[in-house]
Amino acid sequence: MNYPSKLIEDAVNEISKLPGIGKKTALRLALHLLKREEEHTRSLSDALVAMRTQTQFCRQCHNIADEELCNICKSAKRDSSLVCVVVDTRDVLAIENTSQYNGLYHVLGGIISPLEGIGPADLHIESLVRRIADAPSDEPVREVILALSPTMEGDTTAFYLQKKLRPSGVKVSTIARGVPVGGDLEYADEVTLGRSIVSRVAYD
Ligand code: ZN
Repeated sequence: MNYPSKLIEDAVNEISKLPGIGKKTALRLALHLLKREEEHTRSLSDALVAMRTQTQFCRQCHNIADEELCNICKSAKRDSSLVCVVVDTRDVLAIENTSQYNGLYHVLGGIISPLEGIGPADLHIESLVRRIADAPSDEPVREVILALSPTMEGDTTAFYLQKKLRPSGVKVSTIARGVPVGGDLEYADEVTLGRSIVSRVAYD
């Protein structure tokens, strides 16, 4: 592609590194920014840099947070006796959107996958075991809900977690299989996902 300026070319190259954005779209976005107030571009870049440098991970559940504890862990309205185990932040958002769940989360940061060389030690599993063991006696964790995709990796991870959690005596359940087999959690519609968390079943 020919560009009228090296500055535009640089901007297009950077924008087109984002997933799903080709050179043409990137050029359209760059030209759009040029047409608008300079202030608009400045606030966009400020927001991106702030997001990248100030975002952290919740020290309790590993969800994305603005402070040491995420908004969900901090909230007094949430039921701290329930912990829902998910793969990543997108799953937290998917379940939050159902408005059917009022407990806390634990974000694993991935899923056990021997093919991709991801083992239990690469995930936030030890911190989950510790979290349950260290819960204050007046606020114990009563139930761990495994909300993992019904894929081979999801099943392997669920099996491993349930084995690791057994000594703690905590009840372990798994979301009902309203979620299509082999499907990804984040693509399940809200009604299906909401129903599957309400009608979860004991893990055996
Ligand atoms: Zn948290």
